[in-house]
Amino acid sequence: MELAPSRQATVGGLEVRRALPQRTRRTIGAWCFVDHFGPTDPQDGYRMTVGPHPHIGLSTVTWLLDGEGVHTDSLGSEQLIRPGELNLMTAGAGIAHAEETPRGREGRLHGVQFWVAQPEATRHGPSAFEHHAELPELSLGGAVATVLLGAFGGEVSRAALDSELVGVQLALEGDPVELPLDPAFEHGLVALEAPMSVDGVAVEADTLVHLPQGRHSVMVASTGPGRVLLIGGAPFESPVLMWWNFVGRTRDEIDAAVRDWNDGSDRFGEVSSGLDRIAAPAPPWAGD
Ligand code: MN
Repeated sequence: MELAPSRQATVGGLEVRRALPQRTRRTIGAWCFVDHFGPTDPQDGYRMTVGPHPHIGLSTVTWLLDGEGVHTDSLGSEQLIRPGELNLMTAGAGIAHAEETPRGREGRLHGVQFWVAQPEATRHGPSAFEHHAELPELSLGGAVATVLLGAFGGEVSRAALDSELVGVQLALEGDPVELPLDPAFEHGLVALEAPMSVDGVAVEADTLVHLPQGRHSVMVASTGPGRVLLIGGAPFESPVLMWWNFVGRTRDEIDAAVRDWNDGSDRFGEVSSGLDRIAAPAPPWAGD
């Protein structure tokens, strides 16, 4: 078992705790990015306004614990998301989207933004967007598990997958719970609210616990009511190069995506949004 605290970062004016990637661990299965944002103080009246920006080579998975968001993308999707619902946007060769807090819903925001790296077989392919208003749930002792992606405890999410992986939210009440694991997967656990114990080891909130392949189960207990994320998957097929909103394999691919976006190429399409388009910055290797 390996423990690593999240890093602090700022996204769209909001403080986030980034559990993945870590310096020493870039991926868990195909999961390559986990940002925990909020909860905001409702008194501050925070409003998310992330203007049109591009992605390649990844799926974004949006999961809210509180608040609401509206997603618009270059496929023409416009989707309100609320707590307990899942947005899954797959970029393939290129997509653009914007996210904002609906008018009148300012103030509360708490959630998680995950990215899943796409394998070679699909990463140059078409983009897609799915919304799932209902997700499978199961009881495990005193915990309720919600299956976001993949299969867990006999329940299967209908969300599309292009690699073998699992993503689950566990709502714990304090009693220890034994979680079934797929031994072909490596796994990660992150507590979002209260400290937890994992196989008896105390772990602070926003600390990533990595479990290697070969595990059939793990014992998790929260110190009080609190939600915990479980992610896992077969070790990813290759290293990934992540920069800004792009996931690729080579600098040339990332450079091409930066150029195509900043030149307004039709690769990424148009997003219907009142917000300003976000220009891609130059990669750190530009000029090498
Ligand atoms: Mn995005």
